[in-house]
Amino acid sequence: MKPPKFDYHAPATVDEALALLGRYGGEAKLLAGGQSLMPLLNFRLSRPAALVDLNRIPALAYIRETDGQVAFGAMTRQRTIEFSPVVNAKLPLLTEATRWVGHLPIRSRGTIGGSIAHADPSAEYPAVLAALDGEVRARGPRGERTLRAGDLFQTYLTTSLEPDEILTEVRLSAMPAGAAYAFEEFSRRHGDFAIVGIAAMVVVVDGGRCRDARLATAGAGPVPVRLRAAEEILVQEGVGERAIAAAAARAAELVSPDSDLHASADYRRNLTRVLTGRALTRALARAGRSR
Ligand SMILES: Cc1cc2nc3c(=O)[nH]c(=O)nc-3n(C[C@H](O)[C@H](O)[C@H](O)COP(=O)(O)OP(=O)(O)OC[C@H]3O[C@@H](n4cnc5c(N)ncnc54)[C@H](O)[C@@H]3O)c2cc1C
Repeated sequence: MKPPKFDYHAPATVDEALALLGRYGGEAKLLAGGQSLMPLLNFRLSRPAALVDLNRIPALAYIRETDGQVAFGAMTRQRTIEFSPVVNAKLPLLTEATRWVGHLPIRSRGTIGGSIAHADPSAEYPAVLAALDGEVRARGPRGERTLRAGDLFQTYLTTSLEPDEILTEVRLSAMPAGAAYAFEEFSRRHGDFAIVGIAAMVVVVDGGRCRDARLATAGAGPVPVRLRAAEEILVQEGVGERAIAAAAARAAELVSPDSDLHASADYRRNLTRVLTGRALTRALARAGRSR
């Protein structure tokens, strides 16, 4: 399939890109890695009047560590994130999640900003953003604003970004040193989108008390779901086998997945329980916190 006809622009700065978005009045699309947008064009599911290519804006590709946060320029490639020593040291959950994103050629083109702006409910990065309480910065004709994960994802493939805004940066707080973490996922074939994925981080202090727990889903509803009531069980009851089983059971009650041709809602709900248990168990074992 060939894409429909479109104008093509390759601005060199964010300001130029914003001016182009303004000129097309909501009828232009930003092109990042193209790994989701190009299939949509080829299948003619999207027919923008113009593509505004962000690949010639070097100022949008960086990884910076400042004040306990790691900031990613929107055009940072998933592969750069996968092999970044800073990310591996400060956000190992993101490193692990990145290995589940498609295949190497896809990660070599795909960007963190594109993945989050595209908001595929089965994608790994939105789940990590939700689990780690991350935020994004966006620029538009009305200036700059910051959106937290909970305010960003609206429904399938839909965020609260306006058509004339550019997601410029993704920010995540560094994980506490020694935090236990795991990203568990079930998909039909390696590299496929998740049927369900679970991002987990647990901070266990001496004496076995759980100081903080973060759990979020991919594929278990139209947006990533932060499993707060399941996290609460771990904080109150610790991280023993019974508490993990109770948190996993609660996780399944907290999601409202839809049925589709890949899996029924019941199957996804059960996967949420199984993968939450697995993620917590593996995270704690790796951190030497099994009890
Ligand atoms: C075979 C295959 C398997 C895949 N498997 C997975 C997987 O397992 N997990 C996964 O998460 N992804 C997967 N992907 C998708 C891939 O990760 C994409 O990289 C990602 O979804 C989109 O990122 P991109 O940079 O390619 O964005 P693009 O495709 O260029 O853009 C996607 C959308 O986001 C918008 N956009 C892009 N950048 C911005 C920005 N800075 N500001 C505002 N809007 C923006 C675009 O206009 C477009 O609407 C797969 C893709 C393929 C082809």
